[in-house]
Amino acid sequence: MLRMRGIKKSFGSVEVLRGIDLTVRRGEVLAIIGPSGSGKSTLLRCMNRLEEISGGSVEIEGEVLATTTPAGAVEYTDAATCRRLLGCTGMVFQQFNLFPHMTVLENLLEAPVHVKKRPREEVLPEARELLAKVGLSERADYYPAQLSGGQQQRVAIARALCMKPDILLFDEPTSALDPELTGEVLRTMRELAAEHMTMVVVTHEMAFAREAASQVVFMADGVIVEQGEPEAFFAAPKEARTQAFLHNML
Ligand code: ATP
Ligand code: MG
Repeated sequence: MLRMRGIKKSFGSVEVLRGIDLTVRRGEVLAIIGPSGSGKSTLLRCMNRLEEISGGSVEIEGEVLATTTPAGAVEYTDAATCRRLLGCTGMVFQQFNLFPHMTVLENLLEAPVHVKKRPREEVLPEARELLAKVGLSERADYYPAQLSGGQQQRVAIARALCMKPDILLFDEPTSALDPELTGEVLRTMRELAAEHMTMVVVTHEMAFAREAASQVVFMADGVIVEQGEPEAFFAAPKEARTQAFLHNML
């Protein structure tokens, strides 16, 4: 579904990703954990070209998005194919990033109607269904500022789903929320996981990673230190760096 090989990413002379191999399979929930500055967000952003890789290759649904020539030049596929492949991904940000001047419903309709050019009356029932799914049917006509952080984040999830992505990317979706509001967002994400939505989740929520993820990846200093199924990963981490990180988190 999504395959990264030998991913490198530098900002100027600083190499932030130093050769990452990662495969996300259909229906899998992959949790990425690791200390601040280890490159988690950068890796996620390389998956949907919010950042361009400096080396390695990215495949989505078996098609090449980006590859590196033997001479070391990174080449992205043609614009139309890029758009099609990147359309398979959706993203949910830490800071929600809703359009503040649009109602909840308009936030959901914006991209399907104006980017995908789908008829509004066709998208409308889907948008309402997604709002019901995240428990916000009653809030369709509210503006983001009139909602709690947890509600805003659930709107952001519904908005991402409204584009019918094959894979959803989350960058610390609960980190900006008060503790009492994280539960409602994690519950929505658990429901998606139970429906076998393919998800990549950068998170500090160890309980979520343990219960909802099918794979856990621990990153440090731009490399994957350890990866495994959550039960074994949390019960018996193999690497000293993983052990130290988990010891500090739990
Ligand atoms: P956190 O847990 O704090 O969100 P992270 O693991 O997501 O951290 P990244 O945001 O991927 O870490 O950052 C990894 C490194 O890359 C950091 O040292 C950061 O300063 C650097 N970095 C990230 N984005 C840029 C950028 N646009 N320009 C320059 N350096 C950047
Ligand atoms: Mg980050």
